[in-house]
Amino acid sequence: DGDDELQFRDPEKAEALADKIAEIGDDLPDPPATVMHVCGSHEQSIAKFGLRSLLPDSVRLVMGPGCPVCVTNMPEVDEAVALAEDGVTVATYGDMLKVSGTAKSLDDARSEGADVRVVYGAQDAVELAEDLDREVVFFATGFETTAAPTAAAIKADPPENFSILSAHKYIPPAMDIVAEMPDTEIDGYLAAGNAAIITGHGIFDDIVDRHGLPVVVGGFEPLDILAGLVKLLEHIRDGEETVENAYPRCVTEAGNRVAKEQLWDVFEAVDGEWRGIAHIPDANLELREEYAAHDARERFDIDPSALREASASQHLQECICGDIMAGTADPTDCPLFGEECTPAEPVGACMVSSEGTCKIWQEYGGRP
Ligand code: SF4
Repeated sequence: DGDDELQFRDPEKAEALADKIAEIGDDLPDPPATVMHVCGSHEQSIAKFGLRSLLPDSVRLVMGPGCPVCVTNMPEVDEAVALAEDGVTVATYGDMLKVSGTAKSLDDARSEGADVRVVYGAQDAVELAEDLDREVVFFATGFETTAAPTAAAIKADPPENFSILSAHKYIPPAMDIVAEMPDTEIDGYLAAGNAAIITGHGIFDDIVDRHGLPVVVGGFEPLDILAGLVKLLEHIRDGEETVENAYPRCVTEAGNRVAKEQLWDVFEAVDGEWRGIAHIPDANLELREEYAAHDARERFDIDPSALREASASQHLQECICGDIMAGTADPTDCPLFGEECTPAEPVGACMVSSEGTCKIWQEYGGRP
């Protein structure tokens, strides 16, 4: 409740943690240390509470590929648009509507007469299918946090006219890839508490082993983030390659067993492209063959070739959203930021989604 929230926003405690960070910052072996978080909700909190302004110059805090809408690839949007234009009802999250495919967005298709609906999740889309006497495809985007409820909806025997177009993604392999990018040079990860609620923090052990980086799982209130940064910077200072759970009130080592079982029963991890970032092994979640009856890619002959022949706008080609999500650029490095690209008239996906760094920075007035 509100009181619970306030106890994690206490300004005096925040100041004490900021002092601690400054102290550790003086002892870092190779400053500046680059710390990457991988979650739009972290970025929202960091921007809203001005947490970057509390950090010393020796600490650089960047956002990685943690915006699920932003990493949804253009060809995936093209598939959803093609289905909508073919007369199928496409249901998806509100944030997905204005994300451009190669040539157009679902919002464009809707304004041309396609039936595109906004839902809050898979269960909502199932209920829509129950109410409608036509095919309903849920354009399913997001990480583990939303893939788990999609899996639960598939397991709950949805109606025959319901299927999903999966653009779900799995974060740990993306953390692997970004950790290896030569220009990014990450010294530690602040991992997202919400995904870890499902998967548990045990999954980060391999990332630590492979890359020799500390990973600290953090919550979303200002004190959660600052306390997580203290732990992470201590590990960086002391050269400790370890996983630490700084969000124990919600995250366990093993995670949510039932949700995990459902997730891996329904989906398998396959290689796929994350928009603007890279082709990432085992980072896209595809429906397993047993569930082909509810797989839109099996049920329909989706043909987005006409959409893909149209060329993307010049501005879209200039978008550096991928560099921002790889931690090598800030939104303010993009010449379109706040000019040609705004939340009202977004060019790239990072300006569309409430979890996109560009939109968050724009809302909080530039570099927060
Ligand atoms: Fe892309 Fe717009 Fe962000 Fe520039 S400001 S990187 S065009 S989303």
